[in-house]
Amino acid sequence: MDHDNTLVLNCGSSSLKFAVLKAASGHSVIQGLAERLNSPQASLTFTIGDQKQTLSIPDHNHQQAIAAVIEVLKQEQLLTTLCGVGHRVVHGGEAFSESLLITSENLEQLTQLNQLAPLHNPVNILGIKAINALLPDLPQVAVFDTAFHHSLPEAAYLYGLPYELYQQHGVRRYGFHGTSYRYVAAEAARRLDKKQDDCHFLIAHLGNGCSACAVRNGKSVDTSMGFTPLEGLTMGTRSGDIDPGLMPFLSERLNLSIQDIMDVLNKQSGLLGLSGISNDMREIQQAAQTGDIRANLAIEVFAFKIARYLGALAVSLPKIDALIFTGGIGENDRLTRAMVLEHLAVLGFTIDGALNQENGDTQGRITTPNSPLALVIPTNEEWMIAQDTQLLTAK
Ligand code: ADP
Repeated sequence: MDHDNTLVLNCGSSSLKFAVLKAASGHSVIQGLAERLNSPQASLTFTIGDQKQTLSIPDHNHQQAIAAVIEVLKQEQLLTTLCGVGHRVVHGGEAFSESLLITSENLEQLTQLNQLAPLHNPVNILGIKAINALLPDLPQVAVFDTAFHHSLPEAAYLYGLPYELYQQHGVRRYGFHGTSYRYVAAEAARRLDKKQDDCHFLIAHLGNGCSACAVRNGKSVDTSMGFTPLEGLTMGTRSGDIDPGLMPFLSERLNLSIQDIMDVLNKQSGLLGLSGISNDMREIQQAAQTGDIRANLAIEVFAFKIARYLGALAVSLPKIDALIFTGGIGENDRLTRAMVLEHLAVLGFTIDGALNQENGDTQGRITTPNSPLALVIPTNEEWMIAQDTQLLTAK
């Protein structure tokens, strides 16, 4: 039996995404999503071939959802084809600059990072422990969202805060979406037929979470997310940058606790807060087309903040080989791309309306021949995780 498949797990606070992929080709054999975990509506949906199935799993928690996924893999005779399990882990702190074959020692070290990412890492680790309990012989690999940004220079990762806060408490900018940037930068280099270490890119990853990154000689040199994934661009429900002076103002004016304010910034802001309609760009675009003023405003703020950040990130590059859009919005939302490139006219970008409408030509290009290059490249974090997992488990 060939062990050429990898189970990729992405545990979120109330959801669990999974896929079984072939590391060599990226071909997905099965993929699925357990949603609304810990609630009576919990369910597991998966697609295998062209068949889609949904199982109701009321009140299931993450461990039970993973057990349900394993049961499905057993039934589909996929369990014995796995070389290992790759986990998306949000925070690798300063300790982990690359993907990691998990051992009991480094799992302990990883757990200590929970305080840096209390919303994300504990549930990622829960997934690792659940697999440990259910499939103890299967090797596991952690692939960190932060790892690609280990190359940030001090000037980009330090805040203008007392240096002791960095030294003693790890207060610095870490950056996220690194797995996506690593994939997209490699794919862009391939499409341009250039060596990765000879490439300079600006990349905008625009999904529910949004960030942007400057890639110089194939390495991340600046990015918009910081200590947590809240800094930077306006996102689906996250505010992105705000003046920290707002905290005491909101606290006093609205009698809100820090937790309440964090809820506003993380869950009630961004596209949702601005539009009052949804965090989903498709719904906002529909409302905007019917003339909804706040939907239009939300799109304008969203696109402007992206352009403003890309302009700022450009100062870290000697030149721009390509500006790349990725993530659900970056790959599909023509209007956002057009507005961003219009704001970036100062850098010489001129959009090709027809190519933009088609989400790019075969290379992904959406700009005119005389313009600096802008590309649309679909991200594939799962494939990146599968490749790292196969590499590390084969050693
Ligand atoms: P996640 O960060 O959860 O992986 P995605 O990368 O799937 O999210 O991006 C989700 C976002 O992409 C949502 O705002 C969704 O509306 C948007 N999106 C997906 N398809 C389209 C489309 N055809 N047009 C505009 N926006 C889209």
